Amino acid sequence: MQLPATREVACPRCDERTSVRVPREDAELNVRHSVAAFGEYTTVTCSNGHRYWVYFC
Ligand SMILES: [Zn+2]
Repeated sequence: MQLPATREVACPRCDERTSVRVPREDAELNVRHSVAAFGEYTTVTCSNGHRYWVYFC
């Protein structure tokens, strides 16, 4: 059994760091300002209220 992995990402607008859960330990994180129609991603809201999307590749 595998524990969920987390990774820190920086907000593209204010650089505030937030931990996100990643599906795999070796997943590549890709920060986007907008949502795409497909792909595995999570929505992040930083403590300053900025919303962005993190994609896993
Ligand atoms: Zn922010």
